[in-house]
Amino acid sequence: MRHRYWKSILVAWVTILATSAAQADTLLNDVTIVDIESGALAPGQSVLIEGTEIAAVGPDLTAGDDVRHIDGEGGFLIPGLWDSHVHIFSSPTEPDTALPLYLINGITGIRDMGALWPIADQQALQARIETGDVLGPRLILSGAWVDASPGSWPGMFLADTPEEARAVVDRIAAEGWAAVKSYSMLDEATYLALAEAASEAGLPLVGHIPEQIPLDTAIRAGHDGMEHFGRVTKACATREGEMVAEIRDTLMHGGDLQAVMARMAGHNRIVLETWDEALCDRVLSRMAAAGLHVSPTLVVADFYTGNWPAPDAPRMRMLPPEVRASWDRPDFRLQALTDDVRQLADSSIALDRRTFAMAHAAGVPILASSDASFANPYLFHGFSLLDELDIYVAAGLTPREALYTATVAPPRFFGLADQDGTVGPGRRADLVLVDANPLEGLETLRNPRAVIVGGRVLDRAALEAMEARLLAAGE
Ligand SMILES: [Zn+2]
Repeated sequence: MRHRYWKSILVAWVTILATSAAQADTLLNDVTIVDIESGALAPGQSVLIEGTEIAAVGPDLTAGDDVRHIDGEGGFLIPGLWDSHVHIFSSPTEPDTALPLYLINGITGIRDMGALWPIADQQALQARIETGDVLGPRLILSGAWVDASPGSWPGMFLADTPEEARAVVDRIAAEGWAAVKSYSMLDEATYLALAEAASEAGLPLVGHIPEQIPLDTAIRAGHDGMEHFGRVTKACATREGEMVAEIRDTLMHGGDLQAVMARMAGHNRIVLETWDEALCDRVLSRMAAAGLHVSPTLVVADFYTGNWPAPDAPRMRMLPPEVRASWDRPDFRLQALTDDVRQLADSSIALDRRTFAMAHAAGVPILASSDASFANPYLFHGFSLLDELDIYVAAGLTPREALYTATVAPPRFFGLADQDGTVGPGRRADLVLVDANPLEGLETLRNPRAVIVGGRVLDRAALEAMEARLLAAGE
């Protein structure tokens, strides 16, 4: 029955947002194209968009009257941004809010990392976005999360033995997910079988490094993309092995998620006291050599430190009232916070950021990511990805390097045929036009002049209309 309910929601959504199917081709004139990889600027360019694709780029393009002409007025054109770690399916209606929030923030691609919707319904929405029936960012479905029973969250795939891991991967492959996602409570043998089966199925292994195995084990198992940053900082502590063994012990003696989280809370101090720069250099160079991608989600610290926006901030008012209300009630993650962890929070955050900057300098590939979800209080679809990029710059990356993690690295990691973070012919027309040179500062991303998604141009007026609809829905 719930299934049918979701379907009807989806239909309502499509009806609201579907615009005319016949979409005019567009000639965008007088823009400065920003090459995020090299930092080169190409002023005075035109971009011809036909259907969902960029057809031509050059200084002297012309087009007939049947093509919509837009004067870019010297604005700066960059590829659309990606948020590589989000959850948009944690309630039946979450996409109604999430999809427009991404677009108004210039995010034209998202990777979902864990969902409550049936996969068929996720795929139906994905297909409607691809064809332009639904206005939203391109969607990658990597939320096939696998955990030890009973599962840290409802609806997870469960595996407690190597045999179960292999069976779960068969199912994930058959259902058409883009990746296998490991989760925190898996034991080592099950995790290693999961990694092997994913590789045999041709699926990347992404997700959490299980708490009871060392980071180096995951590197050697061929883990492709890891979520969150804490395990990297922990691996730079000389006592990582001891801490991991302690978690394994807790689980072997029947400890549950609460018990593990209590142990982990105590680890913050040990990490701070035994973090070692020379060890960290060795860990990071092994990660870089293995091509282990990291989705840092550093912005998640805001949730734990209570760095929350005022109730009347626009980003709060654009949320459904019931979501705002649920965020007022702290869940098990905040309840697990001890006074010790709170006192150490500033030092822990600073150490994460320092380690993050070292990781980037060592060549560890980074995928900008926020963990935004209705189920993750004070992490906002759209806005939080821009906050995350600001954190990267605060940690020492240049604006260009930060943008690279949101425009170039994601489509290449996902292996997309028609997107690679460049603006050129044959590429999908997912673009953002901003007023100022973003290589000199990312503030300009907060107020894009236009967002182009799958060839459809959302100018400032269209973006403001979307904001107004979200504000009205949030009342
Ligand atoms: Zn997540």
